[in-house]
Amino acid sequence: MKEALFWEKRPHKEVHCQLCPHNCIIQQGATGTCGVRKNIDGTLYALTYGKVIASAIDPIEKKPLYHFHPGSSAFSIGTFGCNLRCKHCQNWQISHCKATEDDNRLLALSPQQAVATALSNNCEVIAFTYNEPSIWFEYVLDTARLARQAGLYNVLVTSGMINPPALKTLLNDIDVYRVDIKGFNEETYQRLTGSAVLAQVLENAEFAFKAGAHLEIVTNLIPGWNDSNEQLDGLTHWIVDTLGTDIPWHVTRYHPGHQLKEPLTPVETLNRAREIGFKNGLQYIYVGNVPGHPGQNTLCPGCGKILIDRTGFTIGTNHILHGCCAYCGYRIGHYRASDIPAAQK
Ligand SMILES: [Zn+2]
Repeated sequence: MKEALFWEKRPHKEVHCQLCPHNCIIQQGATGTCGVRKNIDGTLYALTYGKVIASAIDPIEKKPLYHFHPGSSAFSIGTFGCNLRCKHCQNWQISHCKATEDDNRLLALSPQQAVATALSNNCEVIAFTYNEPSIWFEYVLDTARLARQAGLYNVLVTSGMINPPALKTLLNDIDVYRVDIKGFNEETYQRLTGSAVLAQVLENAEFAFKAGAHLEIVTNLIPGWNDSNEQLDGLTHWIVDTLGTDIPWHVTRYHPGHQLKEPLTPVETLNRAREIGFKNGLQYIYVGNVPGHPGQNTLCPGCGKILIDRTGFTIGTNHILHGCCAYCGYRIGHYRASDIPAAQK
């Protein structure tokens, strides 16, 4: 077990966890809202340090990330716990689960082993995903540091509910901030997620962007919750005004599950979201969870040609050279020169 970071002692062996906006006051023997940070005799421990419940070698496109090292592989790892309780969570069996000190459902994976596994599987990236990685803070921090030293990139797939000082520390070694922004109305946002604060999610996304992280945003569109013209207009205006027009925005189709019974998102809703986003100036809007939708491809905003075509999580051709459109030279947002496949150099 690892002693946690970002907490303070309180009287009567209570602790105050300062990692996330819940700012839990945790009594002796209890865990915080996240279920994985436990007060043992007046000290806060990270129960899931070095312990994973799920790992896979995934295409980076599956995160989804379309503008960072397209076609590369990501060693993806996750564990128990989350600081939110989203009604539509796809991974609720692990994220809404409490850990214990000697949890035999979890497999040991030290930071050194995580980096070695990524390297031996030719991954360019380690992705902290499946559950909320910010509450896995100490492990993510140690692993990301080692990964950087080994020449790997680090991806945080997050809901963005972390306190700014902790985020600042994490961003020293995180290359990609892949954040869910689950709507643009504070009241429905809190109802959908249990407790997320939209204003904090937005503030953190802006902070990560200004700290130099590569940013991609996902909004899972749920009928009746976050798919109104008003919310879509508000969110896309915010992205353009705060982060710029070249931030990739992924609108994904919701499937009924967990505690939400709303019907499958109609494709027309995803198309409407794209129209609104394009009208407001966004240049790269992708449609997820709809096989065969043309919104999976990357088009050049300059000449309109297809630069990367995607089938599922597989990329076909890649016509981006040195970060620019190979046809007209338009600078494609956020691609790096190092992204060019060796065959095209
Ligand atoms: Zn072009």
